[in-house]
Amino acid sequence: MLRTPIKHCRNCGTAVVYRIPDDGDTRERAVCQACETIHYENPLNVVGTVPYFGDKVLLCKRNIEPRWGKWTLPAGFMELGETVAQGAARETVEEAGAQFEMEGFFSLLNVPRVGQVHMFYRARLLSDVFKPNFETLEARLFTEDEIPWGELAFGTVKETLKYYFEDRRAGQFSIHAVDIV
Ligand SMILES: [Zn+2]
Repeated sequence: MLRTPIKHCRNCGTAVVYRIPDDGDTRERAVCQACETIHYENPLNVVGTVPYFGDKVLLCKRNIEPRWGKWTLPAGFMELGETVAQGAARETVEEAGAQFEMEGFFSLLNVPRVGQVHMFYRARLLSDVFKPNFETLEARLFTEDEIPWGELAFGTVKETLKYYFEDRRAGQFSIHAVDIV
Protein backbone atom coordinates (compact mmCIF):
# COMPACT_ATOMS: atom_id res chain seq x y z
CA MET A 1 0.00 0.00 0.00
CA LEU A 2 1.62 3.22 -1.19
CA ARG A 3 -0.95 5.62 0.21
CA THR A 4 -3.07 6.05 3.29
CA PRO A 5 -6.10 3.79 2.66
CA ILE A 6 -9.34 5.47 1.60
CA LYS A 7 -11.96 5.18 4.35
CA HIS A 8 -15.07 6.84 2.97
CA CYS A 9 -16.74 7.14 -0.40
CA ARG A 10 -15.97 10.38 -2.21
CA ASN A 11 -19.46 10.34 -3.71
CA CYS A 12 -21.74 9.52 -0.73
CA GLY A 13 -19.57 9.29 2.40
CA THR A 14 -20.33 5.62 3.19
CA ALA A 15 -17.45 3.44 4.43
CA VAL A 16 -15.62 1.71 1.58
CA VAL A 17 -14.17 -1.80 1.41
CA TYR A 18 -11.02 -2.80 -0.49
CA ARG A 19 -11.88 -5.56 -2.97
CA ILE A 20 -11.43 -6.47 -6.64
CA PRO A 21 -14.40 -4.93 -8.51
CA ASP A 22 -16.63 -7.32 -10.49
CA ASP A 23 -15.95 -5.61 -13.82
CA GLY A 24 -12.93 -7.69 -14.84
CA ASP A 25 -10.45 -5.55 -12.89
CA THR A 26 -7.45 -7.37 -11.43
CA ARG A 27 -6.52 -5.02 -8.59
CA GLU A 28 -8.10 -4.29 -5.25
CA ARG A 29 -9.84 -0.91 -5.17
CA ALA A 30 -11.72 1.04 -2.55
CA VAL A 31 -15.33 0.22 -3.48
CA CYS A 32 -18.33 1.92 -1.90
CA GLN A 33 -20.80 -0.57 -0.39
CA ALA A 34 -23.73 1.81 -0.88
CA CYS A 35 -23.35 3.50 -4.29
CA GLU A 36 -20.68 1.15 -5.74
CA THR A 37 -18.36 3.99 -6.72
CA ILE A 38 -14.88 2.60 -7.42
CA HIS A 39 -12.01 4.82 -6.23
CA TYR A 40 -8.99 4.47 -8.49
CA GLU A 41 -5.61 5.45 -7.08
CA ASN A 42 -2.93 6.30 -9.63
CA PRO A 43 0.63 7.63 -9.58
CA LEU A 44 1.21 11.32 -8.89
CA ASN A 45 3.30 13.62 -11.05
CA VAL A 46 6.05 15.69 -9.47
CA VAL A 47 7.17 18.47 -11.82
CA GLY A 48 10.10 20.85 -11.60
CA THR A 49 13.01 22.56 -13.31
CA VAL A 50 16.78 22.56 -13.54
CA PRO A 51 17.29 26.34 -13.32
CA TYR A 52 20.77 27.33 -14.49
CA PHE A 53 22.77 30.57 -14.54
CA GLY A 54 26.00 30.28 -16.53
CA ASP A 55 27.75 27.16 -15.24
CA LYS A 56 25.72 27.10 -12.02
CA VAL A 57 22.48 25.40 -11.02
CA LEU A 58 19.92 26.70 -8.54
CA LEU A 59 19.08 24.51 -5.55
CA CYS A 60 16.62 25.16 -2.74
CA LYS A 61 17.16 24.11 0.88
CA ARG A 62 13.89 22.60 2.05
CA ASN A 63 12.01 24.20 4.94
CA ILE A 64 9.33 21.47 4.84
CA GLU A 65 9.11 17.76 5.49
CA PRO A 66 9.99 15.30 4.14
CA ARG A 67 13.76 15.87 3.99
CA TRP A 68 13.78 19.17 5.89
CA GLY A 69 17.14 20.94 5.48
CA LYS A 70 18.14 18.92 2.39
CA TRP A 71 18.76 20.49 -1.02
CA THR A 72 16.44 20.03 -3.97
CA LEU A 73 15.68 21.34 -7.42
CA PRO A 74 12.45 23.36 -7.36
CA ALA A 75 9.67 20.79 -7.85
CA GLY A 76 6.31 19.76 -6.48
CA PHE A 77 3.02 18.02 -7.20
CA MET A 78 1.37 18.90 -10.48
CA GLU A 79 -2.06 20.52 -10.08
CA LEU A 80 -5.21 19.64 -11.99
CA GLY A 81 -5.73 21.88 -15.00
CA GLU A 82 -2.08 22.66 -15.69
CA THR A 83 0.48 21.21 -18.09
CA VAL A 84 3.77 19.72 -16.93
CA ALA A 85 5.65 22.83 -18.08
CA GLN A 86 3.16 25.14 -16.34
CA GLY A 87 3.46 23.18 -13.11
CA ALA A 88 7.25 23.13 -13.30
CA ALA A 89 7.33 26.90 -13.86
CA ARG A 90 4.86 27.52 -11.01
CA GLU A 91 6.96 25.49 -8.56
CA THR A 92 10.07 27.40 -9.62
CA VAL A 93 8.36 30.73 -8.92
CA GLU A 94 6.93 29.53 -5.59
CA GLU A 95 9.94 27.72 -4.14
CA ALA A 96 12.74 29.91 -5.48
CA GLY A 97 11.14 33.24 -6.46
CA ALA A 98 13.30 33.00 -9.57
CA GLN A 99 13.02 34.86 -12.87
CA PHE A 100 13.63 32.51 -15.76
CA GLU A 101 12.73 31.35 -19.22
CA MET A 102 11.55 27.76 -19.71
CA GLU A 103 13.64 25.61 -22.06
CA GLY A 104 13.43 21.99 -23.22
CA PHE A 105 12.08 18.93 -21.46
CA PHE A 106 14.96 17.19 -19.72
CA SER A 107 14.22 14.18 -17.52
CA LEU A 108 11.50 11.69 -16.63
CA LEU A 109 12.05 9.50 -13.60
CA ASN A 110 9.72 6.67 -12.59
CA VAL A 111 9.61 5.99 -8.86
CA PRO A 112 7.17 3.06 -8.67
CA ARG A 113 8.09 2.36 -5.03
CA VAL A 114 6.23 5.53 -4.00
CA GLY A 115 3.81 5.69 -6.95
CA GLN A 116 5.30 8.83 -8.50
CA VAL A 117 6.65 10.09 -11.82
CA HIS A 118 9.06 13.04 -11.63
CA MET A 119 9.61 15.32 -14.63
CA PHE A 120 12.05 18.19 -15.08
CA TYR A 121 12.46 20.93 -17.67
CA ARG A 122 15.57 23.04 -18.09
CA ALA A 123 15.07 26.72 -17.22
CA ARG A 124 17.46 29.58 -18.04
CA LEU A 125 17.68 32.01 -15.13
CA LEU A 126 17.44 35.69 -16.06
CA SER A 127 18.70 36.89 -12.68
CA ASP A 128 20.75 35.53 -9.79
CA VAL A 129 18.49 37.17 -7.22
CA PHE A 130 15.93 34.85 -5.61
CA LYS A 131 12.92 35.44 -3.37
CA PRO A 132 11.94 32.01 -2.06
CA ASN A 133 8.71 31.43 -0.14
CA PHE A 134 8.23 29.70 3.22
CA GLU A 135 8.95 26.26 1.71
CA THR A 136 12.60 27.21 1.16
CA LEU A 137 15.23 28.09 3.80
CA GLU A 138 17.74 29.24 1.21
CA ALA A 139 17.97 29.36 -2.59
CA ARG A 140 21.47 29.53 -4.07
CA LEU A 141 23.56 28.71 -7.11
CA PHE A 142 26.07 25.84 -7.18
CA THR A 143 28.77 24.90 -9.68
CA GLU A 144 29.11 21.16 -10.34
CA ASP A 145 31.99 20.97 -7.85
CA GLU A 146 29.96 22.71 -5.17
CA ILE A 147 26.83 20.51 -5.41
CA PRO A 148 26.17 18.98 -1.97
CA TRP A 149 25.76 15.46 -3.39
CA GLY A 150 25.39 13.87 0.03
CA GLU A 151 22.79 16.41 1.13
CA LEU A 152 20.32 16.13 -1.75
CA ALA A 153 16.68 15.52 -0.81
CA PHE A 154 15.69 12.99 -3.49
CA GLY A 155 17.24 10.39 -5.78
CA THR A 156 15.40 11.95 -8.72
CA VAL A 157 17.17 15.27 -8.08
CA LYS A 158 20.56 13.54 -7.87
CA GLU A 159 20.00 11.65 -11.15
CA THR A 160 18.74 14.75 -12.94
CA LEU A 161 21.73 16.81 -11.80
CA LYS A 162 24.16 14.05 -12.88
CA TYR A 163 22.63 14.01 -16.37
CA TYR A 164 22.53 17.79 -16.52
CA PHE A 165 26.26 18.24 -15.86
CA GLU A 166 27.17 15.29 -18.14
CA ASP A 167 25.18 16.82 -21.01
CA ARG A 168 26.58 20.26 -20.27
CA ARG A 169 30.14 18.94 -20.54
CA ALA A 170 29.23 17.14 -23.78
CA GLY A 171 27.81 20.39 -25.17
CA GLN A 172 24.41 18.90 -25.98
CA PHE A 173 21.27 18.30 -23.96
CA SER A 174 19.10 15.25 -24.57
CA ILE A 175 16.07 13.74 -22.83
CA HIS A 176 16.63 11.16 -20.12
CA ALA A 177 14.17 8.50 -18.95
CA VAL A 178 15.15 6.62 -15.81
CA ASP A 179 13.59 4.06 -13.49
CA ILE A 180 14.53 4.52 -9.86
CA VAL A 181 13.97 1.21 -8.10
ZN1 LIG B 1 -20.80 5.81 -2.18
